[in-house]
Amino acid sequence: MKAHDFRKFISRFDDLTPGQVQDAARQITEVRRKTEAIIAIETRAQERASCPHCGHEGRVRWGRTRTNIQRYRCEGCARTFTGRTGSVAQHLHRPDLFLEVVKDMLDPRAPSSIRQLSRRLQRNKYTIWRWRMIILGAFSGASSDIFAGIVEADETYQRESRKGSREWVRYLRNKGKYPKPPRRRWYEYGKRGIPMLRGLSRWQLPILTVADRSGAQRFQRIPGRSKGAVYTALLPLVAKDAVLCSDGHDGYSALAESRGIEHFVIKAKPGQKMASPTHHIQNINNLHSRYKSFIRPFRGPASKYLEGYLDWFVARVSKVQPEDVLRAL
Ligand SMILES: [Zn+2]
Repeated sequence: MKAHDFRKFISRFDDLTPGQVQDAARQITEVRRKTEAIIAIETRAQERASCPHCGHEGRVRWGRTRTNIQRYRCEGCARTFTGRTGSVAQHLHRPDLFLEVVKDMLDPRAPSSIRQLSRRLQRNKYTIWRWRMIILGAFSGASSDIFAGIVEADETYQRESRKGSREWVRYLRNKGKYPKPPRRRWYEYGKRGIPMLRGLSRWQLPILTVADRSGAQRFQRIPGRSKGAVYTALLPLVAKDAVLCSDGHDGYSALAESRGIEHFVIKAKPGQKMASPTHHIQNINNLHSRYKSFIRPFRGPASKYLEGYLDWFVARVSKVQPEDVLRAL
């Protein structure tokens, strides 16, 4: 629309009835939602220096796509591309709704359920699920991998879940061919859940959590809770001049010793007075409790997706921006 026409258009706003104002406001919100996604995709194209097909650097504008995204034509290979060519977002028909899902996942309030999103965006729940899986992939860089200064480390765990697994179905259908799954079915456990055998049972997956005071955070699945597992996972993460605070697990002591760094063992239980005002693991304790309330609504996510959920949690607490996710795809 030309600037002159636009001014005329705006000046007619005074003539609207209250009902029309509401309608117009709704329309504007809708349009803004769509353009946000397109802006994110176009920024990605502008930042991209070369053709995704051949790597040539010269390009010209070449109209817009059906979804109204700027298209370019490569001067090297004469093929066309947009900001989302070669990304997993390439085949999305509604990037605007996809961005809505990203925003919902990063919303400081609890994220909506797949069903709620499906109803709100009027998309099939399997579409929303598929989008969510794509987005989980984009969160994979959310955890920090270098920790300095006062570093807090601790473990938490997530109950193992074979949700969606076919192992019992296969076994019951053909007992000769498939082995009996080593674990009972979820409904056979009763109210008290999995019995705890000295520490963690084999059905509780340990997660190493690390945080420093500059806001670096990490949630990482580790193969076990042995001294070696904790030590190996932590070794590449902690800077040489860090100060480690932990609950005193052997793995942390071993790391502190081999690195020659200071190590504070914190024995205080939550609510108890801290041993020292600076050397504590309150941030980690706080993260653990936030993790528990984040993960609760999923009723134990399938373990094959657990890493994605951990990245999702870290992306939420480290305040990743929705537009950045769209561009990172
Ligand atoms: Zn090219």
